[in-house]
Amino acid sequence: MRNFFLQFFQGRYGSYGMDKLTKFLLILSVIALIVSLCSPLGFLYYVAFALLIYSYYRLLSKNITKRYKENESFIRINQKIRLFFGRTKHKINQSKNYHIYVCPKCKQKIRIPRGAGKIMVRCPRCMTEFKKKA
Ligand SMILES: [Zn+2]
Repeated sequence: MRNFFLQFFQGRYGSYGMDKLTKFLLILSVIALIVSLCSPLGFLYYVAFALLIYSYYRLLSKNITKRYKENESFIRINQKIRLFFGRTKHKINQSKNYHIYVCPKCKQKIRIPRGAGKIMVRCPRCMTEFKKKA
């Protein structure tokens, strides 16, 4: 029986183990299934099913190069998304503690800590001074 499985998986993408894209698809499938069962979004049941079939299709595929490339682009997109959210989080944190002003003359962005009251801001680029409330 073990031999049968080994032979069955030989030369297939799944024989190298589950890649990140497959794992992601399977997790997504489980989430879709749970949501479909406890919400009015019943159609998600079919989405879950389709994702499951697609995951197995990838695991059993013999076109290893193509599957490998799919996984690579998935990882790239995933990293971009993480980077985007990381930056957004950083911006939100910044805006909690700092005011961002734009120099009226050269449009340079200037970061001033909040809670300083009325202050004179000097643009580090063109040295223009302007009054602002921080
Ligand atoms: Zn300026």
